[in-house]
Amino acid sequence: MKGSIEISHQICKGCELCINFCPKKVIKLSDKLNAAGYQHAIYIEDGECTGCAVCAIVCPEVAIEVYRA
Ligand code: SF4
Ligand code: SF4
Repeated sequence: MKGSIEISHQICKGCELCINFCPKKVIKLSDKLNAAGYQHAIYIEDGECTGCAVCAIVCPEVAIEVYRA
């Protein structure tokens, strides 16, 4: 299955849970800060996201939207 995600950069607090739990390792921390001063997560567009939604389930801020193709 193919999927993709959208991370709300302004909602993210940079806790890295999604990064640690993503089985495909397609999320990383940005080197930029969001408006609240957090180094936020970003989606690696050319990876192999399966749409498994683990990232969205573990995110305490509900900052991740998952799309399945
Ligand atoms: S949906 Fe699954 S594969 Fe895609 S970014 Fe989230 S945890 Fe990783
Ligand atoms: S789990 Fe949520 S708050 Fe934590 S780094 Fe990922 S998107 Fe940001």
